[in-house]
Amino acid sequence: VNLCFAPYLDRHENILGTISVIQDITEHKKLEEMQKEFVANVSHELRTPLTTIKSYAETLLDGAVDERELALNFLNVINHEADRMTALVQDLLELSRLDNKQTKFKMQDISLSHIVEGSVDKYQIHAKKKNQIMVYERTSDDYKITGDAGRIEQVIKNIISNAVKYSYEEATIQIEVMERGRFIVVTIQDTGMGIPEEDLSRIFDRFYRVDKARSRAMGGTGLGLAIAKEIMECHGGHIKVNSEIGVGTCFHLYFPYEKREAQ
Ligand code: ADP
Repeated sequence: VNLCFAPYLDRHENILGTISVIQDITEHKKLEEMQKEFVANVSHELRTPLTTIKSYAETLLDGAVDERELALNFLNVINHEADRMTALVQDLLELSRLDNKQTKFKMQDISLSHIVEGSVDKYQIHAKKKNQIMVYERTSDDYKITGDAGRIEQVIKNIISNAVKYSYEEATIQIEVMERGRFIVVTIQDTGMGIPEEDLSRIFDRFYRVDKARSRAMGGTGLGLAIAKEIMECHGGHIKVNSEIGVGTCFHLYFPYEKREAQ
């Protein structure tokens, strides 16, 4: 709490009383703390790959460059770490554009069913590699919404790719599109590792991961769900999640929708 006092004077400068201002700065402090934490996180996330790149480059310069096999190995690591930094910077730029409302959305009438189908097709190959079964429950309805097709595809792909990443071999990933009241809901359910209850409310926070090492090893930036949440909100929608550790996770994407004559 911020406290300020000032004397309250009359025309002859006699003190009549005091004016006190009591300001609750809890929100302000919280925001400041969040900003500090964000900068610390960004610095740490960028420093980790940089440290690796630097040490491998130094070892190459110290002579490893003459051993072809070893040199190729090191160059691959450097290349991989540089890719990670690029992905991170791209996600950061995207979030910053969303924060500053600079993202231009190309709003059009689009078929959500079509976008979901395309995204499922693209991730089938990743699921197959892990012997996972990915099923999309097709319906005869073609759900049309207003939105930016590219952005919505990005959100759906992100959730599907997480389902594949955070599920073990032979898991099942089930995708559905259905109408629920004023919304069209895309449900992505996996029988993966699940998310502990205490982490559930934080997974949409920037850089929050249940298991940092696992996320990094899988090429994650820890920003995917934060971006997805922003994009959904820009479409007047929202994301819900429920999960049980060891059982699986279910994401629901809610898109606002008005029933039209043709549908
Ligand atoms: P990341 O780049 O780490 O995947 P995200 O923002 O996409 O970042 O996700 C944040 C965290 O949420 C992940 O690190 C993971 O711990 C958790 N998570 C997301 N989706 C799932 C899922 N389907 N099953 C289990 N955990 C998940």
